[in-house]
Amino acid sequence: MLVKQKVVVVGNGMVGHHLVEQLQAQSDNTEVTVLSAEPRLAYDRVHLSEFFSGKTADDLSMTNPEQYEAWGVDFRTNAKVVNIDKVNKQVVTETGEVFSYDKLVLATGSYPFVPPIPGKDRDHCLVYRTIDDLHAISKSAETSKVGVVIGGGLLGLEAANALKELGLETHVVEFAPQLMGVQVDAGGGAVLRNKIEELGVQVHTSKATNVIEDGEQCRYKLCFSDDTVLETDLILFSAGIRPYDNLAREFDLEIGERGGITINNQCQTSDANIYAIGECALWNNFIFGLVAPGYAMAKVAAKHICGEMDSFTGADMSTKLKLMGVEVGSIGDAHGKTPGSLAYTYDDQPEGVYKKIVVSSDKTKLLGAVLVGDTSNYDSLLQYMLNGIELPESPESLILPSVDGAVTLGASALPDTATICSCLNVTKKDIVDAVDQGCTELAQVKSCTKASTGCGGCAALLKDVFENELETRGVEVKKDICEHFAYSRKELFDLIKVEQIKTFDELIEKHGQGLGCEICKPTTASILASIYNDYILEKLHLPLQDSNDNFLANLQKDGTYSVVPRIAGGEITPDKLIVIGEVAKKYNLYTKITGGQRIDMFGARVEQLPPIWQELIDAGFETGHAYGKSVRTVKSCVGQTWCRFGVQDSLDMALEVENRYKGIRSPHKLKFAVSGCTRECAEAQSKDIGIIATENGWNLYVCGNGGMRPRHADLFATDLDSETLIKYIDRILVFYIKTADRLQRTSVWMESLEGGLDYLKQVVIDDSLNICEEMEAQMAALVGRYQCEWKTTLEDPIAMQRFKSFVNSDESDDNIVFVEEREQIRPVREEERIAIVVEP
Ligand SMILES: Cc1cc2nc3c(=O)[nH]c(=O)nc-3n(C[C@H](O)[C@H](O)[C@H](O)COP(=O)(O)OP(=O)(O)OC[C@H]3O[C@@H](n4cnc5c(N)ncnc54)[C@H](O)[C@@H]3O)c2cc1C
Ligand code: SF4
Ligand code: SF4
Repeated sequence: MLVKQKVVVVGNGMVGHHLVEQLQAQSDNTEVTVLSAEPRLAYDRVHLSEFFSGKTADDLSMTNPEQYEAWGVDFRTNAKVVNIDKVNKQVVTETGEVFSYDKLVLATGSYPFVPPIPGKDRDHCLVYRTIDDLHAISKSAETSKVGVVIGGGLLGLEAANALKELGLETHVVEFAPQLMGVQVDAGGGAVLRNKIEELGVQVHTSKATNVIEDGEQCRYKLCFSDDTVLETDLILFSAGIRPYDNLAREFDLEIGERGGITINNQCQTSDANIYAIGECALWNNFIFGLVAPGYAMAKVAAKHICGEMDSFTGADMSTKLKLMGVEVGSIGDAHGKTPGSLAYTYDDQPEGVYKKIVVSSDKTKLLGAVLVGDTSNYDSLLQYMLNGIELPESPESLILPSVDGAVTLGASALPDTATICSCLNVTKKDIVDAVDQGCTELAQVKSCTKASTGCGGCAALLKDVFENELETRGVEVKKDICEHFAYSRKELFDLIKVEQIKTFDELIEKHGQGLGCEICKPTTASILASIYNDYILEKLHLPLQDSNDNFLANLQKDGTYSVVPRIAGGEITPDKLIVIGEVAKKYNLYTKITGGQRIDMFGARVEQLPPIWQELIDAGFETGHAYGKSVRTVKSCVGQTWCRFGVQDSLDMALEVENRYKGIRSPHKLKFAVSGCTRECAEAQSKDIGIIATENGWNLYVCGNGGMRPRHADLFATDLDSETLIKYIDRILVFYIKTADRLQRTSVWMESLEGGLDYLKQVVIDDSLNICEEMEAQMAALVGRYQCEWKTTLEDPIAMQRFKSFVNSDESDDNIVFVEEREQIRPVREEERIAIVVEP
């Protein structure tokens, strides 16, 4: 009988476990022993943070004793290896158990680096790496109010989110001037910081901690090198990782200068019978802190042990941050370090979106990208980079907002060799083969190819490729919004409406599974708002909302907010103008008349928002919803009343329209305009809804768009009387609200409607679906539930608690500095800030 090779695996993390799976799949000629220092078998460290949103240790586990037993794998938990005898080929555990090997695999991973700060070893000073760490953090949180994460990298931000979910006032302290400096450039870092702060996490950059001392208000005090301090009850170190290479160090295997067990392309260490894989291994002077390269190493090592030749040749380090509400993606050469590389940047500060692509000097290949605030193009961009796909003629179109003609990389454009899941190295061809072999559901493809079972970053692309494959075979595809709901947005809308569902929890319990994600939560928030028009700061809906809604104001680039009262139709009395002037003067706000005929006031600190709004509301103003996805402005000209050319009262119509639709939540913001004649002074043909007076009534234009990629509105109907005009707008808006995707402008929605303008006319004018009566009733109900959200907020003491610069103090944020220009304030520029700070 053939003698089996004895393989001993030290460490049962994600990579060690993957090796066991690979050995299992590749040969029955190995006898595998697994020694795990932890009290449990492998679990999903990548999704560790989900523990704080409800997942249990069992949910996270990747295997179990029964599975290993069924595979014939001998395993020990609480079995830390402390000795390697290379000559006799044996390892010894802490408890003295001895195991012989023919091949030894070190998969010992890494441990969190704790900087040598005096006081670092005190109670409640913790790290974030294992399930035991999570238990310790939960326990400490029970007696803590404030928590600080030291380290603003990818894991630090995840850890901060965890503290937030535990209900602590949360701070992140970062040594560098920006967050996630490894993956994101300075522009992206600034947007990211805003987003993190909007989540309620306070960020302190350029701070070096000197010592941890007893606190006065809290348990501890962090003393920084710039003589400032921060009080906290719990400290979580997330300042990087160090490879667990102690065994290799002690037992004379080759180690890199800065740590890590040196391996060759076959993952062998300096002893040919000992392999190292995962985060403890140093390949080509590089340690990979991600799971995908570890899995690739496990595959290569398993093959080599089984006598097959394969090589590890490095791995892609692109990542997406899995932080609820904050989208961040980093691809390849994000910092543009490749000589000759060029960059395109798109920076939409009002929307908090920053995108950069780095391309080769001849602009044909994508080298890297940074995405903050919107990672919808992550998958496409990653494919361009990984597969060296030729870029379109205007590479910038890849990151510009997609209106007409934007270039997208569909699943069908990908070559068969395209890597779809880089964690498990699954190609497009593997997925096509799975469909060939009879997989007709996504779950089957996942289980058969293992795609998307690692970090999960490829889930959307996997779904695209799979659905594309089914479509090319003529199979009907379901358009589920995400893995938590087997429904499209439209179907969810109908379910919520028909069953009168009022909360996300109720929806997911009845019709979904799991805990929800950054796709289904805001989608539900938008649907609930569109159906019920509830108060936006309702506690139940708050965690689902987009960030500007949280403060009923638009966050500006310097961390202040803008105040935008509604000035319907652009009409305002002298008395109201005086009030705006007085308020602006009293709070020293910058004032600007906008393109939408309103007056914006900039520079309000968060704690100033309530008193400012109180004064405005007392004077008869109401919120302009500048922060919401709802009607912003109805621009108008003076029309027939004053203008020689006017043929209808355009201002009266503008007022009627604005007052009717104000406050209604929609998939995206809406802009309207009304012109008094065809001279079109109000520019109605570039608006979502445009109305132009004619001798006989009104012409209605729909789905226009200004902005970066303008779209001319389509003429929908001519010479309408006022009543029919309003009826059509009611129906169009309800149909849009019901059927558009989240964050889809009307212009893009129109392009996506099968049948386009003609179809919309059939539905709205000819009532082809027999739903017009219902749509009108729905609009009437929404109109009837209007409220000024600022008025409601000022009357609600709980909602008012949000409006503070700091959770634990009434102080203002002294990072906000203005200078004067043209007799008004403006935010200080970076170079001016330095001058101001050093001035005595
Ligand atoms: C919160 C968090 C989020 C993450 N998110 C991502 C992500 O989104 N994407 C991504 O790609 N990666 C992510 N990672 C990194 C990813 O988890 C690691 O790359 C991966 O787990 C490494 O696997 P490993 O098996 O090499 O090491 P580990 O998972 O650390 O496993 C090593 C195991 O070996 C054990 N061990 C050590 N020494 C001994 C010994 N002497 N004897 C016996 N056992 C020993 C350890 O106790 C440990 O259980 C994240 C990590 C964390 C902590
Ligand atoms: S164009 Fe409008 S959105 Fe863009 S920066 Fe100017 S004011 Fe802001
Ligand atoms: S659109 Fe016509 S009515 Fe209105 S201001 Fe211009 S010219 Fe006058």
